Amino acid sequence: MAENSHVDLGFVEKTDTGKLSCQYFPSKVGGKPAWLSLSSLPSPNQILCSKCNNICVFLLQVYAPIEDDDNSFHRTVFVFLCKNPNCHQPNSSVPFIALRSQLPRINDFYSPDPPTPVTPVPDNGDKLCVVCGISGPKCCSKCHSRSYCSKEHQIIDWKKGHKLNCNECKEDKTTNTSQVLFQEYELLIEDEEFQKEEEKSEPEKKEELHSFLKSEKASSLLQDCSSEELEKMSNQSEDKVFLKFRKRIDHAPEQVLRYDRGGCPLLVSSDNKPDKIPNCTCGAQRQFEFQVMPQLLCHLGVDQVGDSIDWGTLCVYTCSANCYHGNQYQQEYLWKQDYSK
Ligand SMILES: [Zn+2]
Ligand SMILES: [Zn+2]
Ligand SMILES: [Zn+2]
Ligand SMILES: [Zn+2]
Repeated sequence: MAENSHVDLGFVEKTDTGKLSCQYFPSKVGGKPAWLSLSSLPSPNQILCSKCNNICVFLLQVYAPIEDDDNSFHRTVFVFLCKNPNCHQPNSSVPFIALRSQLPRINDFYSPDPPTPVTPVPDNGDKLCVVCGISGPKCCSKCHSRSYCSKEHQIIDWKKGHKLNCNECKEDKTTNTSQVLFQEYELLIEDEEFQKEEEKSEPEKKEELHSFLKSEKASSLLQDCSSEELEKMSNQSEDKVFLKFRKRIDHAPEQVLRYDRGGCPLLVSSDNKPDKIPNCTCGAQRQFEFQVMPQLLCHLGVDQVGDSIDWGTLCVYTCSANCYHGNQYQQEYLWKQDYSK
């Protein structure tokens, strides 16, 4: 499976926001999520940071339908994260949230035909928070015309302009959400142009050696080896994994995403590999689908000195059976791998 797989790369590009709304099935970074299913949206409680209990912010979505699967005629995977750097832990799935939505060609929201430049936004969806774009079960108690996911976002909207516009008859579209949302980009997907130089490169061999050294089989075989020796070997191969990572992305250093459903992620370190991926709630195993690269940090405005969000790579795993739950969103799994220290 992994051997013959080819990788698609994602690059960010500034674009007209109109192109990124849901009826065009975009892949995108930042801004508000362009939901696929427009009802049964995840509740704000399902998008809370498990550390600080605040609402997580939309990071990106990848539109990735699956051929030969009628229930995946449309299919999008969404990633959210908590913006508080204190909630981020090394090599963890906290505080990230991954969600999958898929729809058949005949569905409750979109025409079975491809969208045109004048296709309107479907209007039969759930109410959305005007600040962050997730579902908004709360509303302004005075004018009842603005929806919010949480009290926090209602306060932000009030301070940022709704205070002046509440009770006015005109529609209020003034909210400045830049302090909450990441900068918005289109995510362009292209083939990776990369030729394997040989059957198995040195780094790959080293990586294999390293996994072997970590295995139980190795520890019984290598009982004569001192633990110091094992440590040395493993540090060496650790560098090689990182070198392989660097070498591979040097072909297209601007890549922010690598898509290879059913393949293997390109890891940044041989430490803390994502090897305990929980099964989907349907019982099927999850498989690797895509990874978010560190280059994306440069575009989000968070890559600054001091306390900041950081990652080596974010690996997203989704149900291998691609289980279908109608208009509902299905929780998937994200593993953050950091560089080894
Ligand atoms: Zn948090
Ligand atoms: Zn909100
Ligand atoms: Zn109001
Ligand atoms: Zn499943």
